[in-house]
Amino acid sequence: MTGRPVPVREEIRALRAYRLAPEDAPPIRAKLDFNESPFDVPGEIRADVLARLAAKRWGRYPEFGAPRLKKAIAEAIGRRPEEIVVGNGSGEVILAAVSVFAGGRTLVLSTPTFSLYGQIAAIAAARVTDVPRQGADFELAEEEFLDASARPGAVPLVCSPNNPTGGVVRSAFLDRLLDIAAVVLLDQAYVDFAPSADDALLSFGSRRNLVVFRTLSKAYAAAGFRIGYAVAPPALVVEIEKAVLPFSVDLAAEELAIAVLAHPEVARSHVERIVAERGRVADALAAAGCAVATSSANFLFVRPPDGDAARVRRGLLDRGILVRDMTAAAPGRLRVSIGSRAENDLFLEALQEVL
Ligand code: PMP
Repeated sequence: MTGRPVPVREEIRALRAYRLAPEDAPPIRAKLDFNESPFDVPGEIRADVLARLAAKRWGRYPEFGAPRLKKAIAEAIGRRPEEIVVGNGSGEVILAAVSVFAGGRTLVLSTPTFSLYGQIAAIAAARVTDVPRQGADFELAEEEFLDASARPGAVPLVCSPNNPTGGVVRSAFLDRLLDIAAVVLLDQAYVDFAPSADDALLSFGSRRNLVVFRTLSKAYAAAGFRIGYAVAPPALVVEIEKAVLPFSVDLAAEELAIAVLAHPEVARSHVERIVAERGRVADALAAAGCAVATSSANFLFVRPPDGDAARVRRGLLDRGILVRDMTAAAPGRLRVSIGSRAENDLFLEALQEVL
């Protein structure tokens, strides 16, 4: 026996393990910390999915390559099945694509952005170049981002609408980025909450170097089942799929996804309600003296008047309201998911007390 240390890769050791520390709190009355849907899959769809699952053989692997699911996604978004990669949540598909295109190279990000990207870069052994966002709405620094993305070995990853700030990139910028970058990774997890004019797939879906990521975890209220996908030219789909483990979408997730995609009117009505609430909550926060970044997503990026996000988060938690303290990403900021009308009222009342 030697005393040699177990060899953990340096970039993995340097990561902070993602942990949700248990905290003393009263029963939670509004859970506004994960950008989930406050709604759920309706009862009839749940019953239908359960009946279909009961009729399946659970001892067999799902159909290889999930052809039914790819067809359902392709039909829902007006693309072809050969343009779709499916995975166990979009996080898995983003990890696969970053590994394929940016492993050993440089991922270009713009913070504050989705914190998982840093972890994914470390796993994929990609370096990171950060072009920080600027201004009251945390806009992307377009020229600097374009310069960084034009360098050899650079792979831009753009989140639009951006988590946690809520803003979208301009079409004219994406057009230029697609011209100068070898490949562009675009995470559209929250696109359903943005005006349709901001849908890059409609404008740029035929470009040979665009990879778009989407998820059923947000607008489709299916986060518990883990279904995400990428849309890309078939030649890139083939490469990305080499980095996704076989059968990563299980039987249950596949059936649920097919069922929710067959009822787009459900997601549409949920989205309408969330977008209306987003406006109402943003107005109420501004009236309470908070700074609120313009959001095209199902959350708001908020600075309380005293800039003490940690105190406000704790005060809200003591009143049974969960929100996210984003101090590490942007000093003084909280991220608050848009809940049901009742949850948002509870949040606003509790906030008045805390402030
Ligand atoms: N991208 C962004 C920007 C997100 O905020 C999230 C979830 N918080 C994901 C991707 C991953 O979502 P999922 O794995 O549930 O599809």
